[in-house]
This record gives sequence, C-alpha cells and structure tokens, in this order.
Amino acid sequence: MLSDVLRSITWLGHDGFAITTEDVRLVIDPYQLADADPADIILITHPHFDHCSSEDIEKVKKPSTIFVTEAESAKKLSGDVRVVKAGDRLSVMGIEIEAVPAYNTDKDFHPKENGWLGFIITIDGIRVYHAGDTDLIPEMENLSVDIALLPVSGTYVMTAAEAIEAAKKIQPKVAIPMHYDAIVGTSEDAAKFKEALEGVCEVVVLEK
Ligand code: ZN
Ligand code: ZN
Repeated sequence: MLSDVLRSITWLGHDGFAITTEDVRLVIDPYQLADADPADIILITHPHFDHCSSEDIEKVKKPSTIFVTEAESAKKLSGDVRVVKAGDRLSVMGIEIEAVPAYNTDKDFHPKENGWLGFIITIDGIRVYHAGDTDLIPEMENLSVDIALLPVSGTYVMTAAEAIEAAKKIQPKVAIPMHYDAIVGTSEDAAKFKEALEGVCEVVVLEK
C-alpha cells in the first residue's frame, strides 16, 4: 500500500534517501550521512560529489551491495555495478528499477547529453520517482508515479516554483521535496513547495 511504502522512505539529507522493505535496504545518493546502516542496493544518479560521494558510499557499502548507476559514476565505484541509461529497466533483489532522464534546460551543470539519471523504483506496485538533478523536463509529462521526490533548491536544479509546476505535471499522489539544507536551498523552499501544492497532491516534508 502507498502508506506502507511512504513509511519505508527515510530522508538521509540532500538527495539521499533510504527505502527499507522487509528484505531489502535500498539507498539513493548517500551524502553527509549520519545514519550508516548497510545497503543491499545503492542507486547513484550522477557523478557530482554530493550525489556520488565515495566517503558516504564506503559507510553503507557491504561486499554484496549491488550498485545501479550511469557510466561516469560507475568509474568511481567497485564491486557489482550495473550500468544503465535512461529507458533501461532491471530487477534487483525483487525491486524493479527504471532509469529515467535528468538534465538542465536553462543552465549547464547537467547537460542532457551526459545521460545522467533519475530513477523510478517500484515496491509492492507503488512507483517511487527520484528525479535526480534536473529541471522541469518534457519527459516528466509521461511519468506515471505514486510518490515523487523532487529537487527544490534552485541554482543547479529546479527552483521551488519550478518544482511546483513539475508536481502539477507529474501528478503524483505524494510529493517529497529534496535537494535543500546541504549545499543550496533551505527548508523555506520545502515549505513553499508544500504550501503551493495544497489541493494538488499530498506533500510530505521529511525530517533528517
Ligand atoms: Zn549535480
Ligand atoms: Zn545536486
């Protein structure tokens, strides 16, 4: 159920999240971790230091950890690394993972041609979208997801105002703001995002 999957999602700060099921702990973009429970699966969206952080990956990695990422981040990783590109789907330990595009449209930090990623993770039929570092992009129109984790900080990614537009396009049941309180962006961006989406979708602002 949606509420069960929602409860299984914890925010690790910035773009880092853990999804913990009975059998599997999946971690996305760990950065500045306080919590260091080991991960069975680690998803990395792109090679920037605040998303593909070797120091933090070392904290959660175990010998059997399976990584899913794009080619450039894969070069910084070792072990069982599955390299994917947007459009690829794979099943890892019973969890469906789909790679989707993430890129900038009006700035140069995340060029489309780099092929960096967001992910859709399906757990118990509930589709969780981690947008990665992205602007509002046309591909978002076709997403069908239940829970959307969207960046709100501006500068390198969408501003809160753009993230509000993205949520209106995507129409998830639940939206969760991310990419603030670490490098750029503040909890005010998250609050603005929540307030503006009242009546559009549920917004959950997670605590670290
Ligand atoms: Zn980035
Ligand atoms: Zn970033």
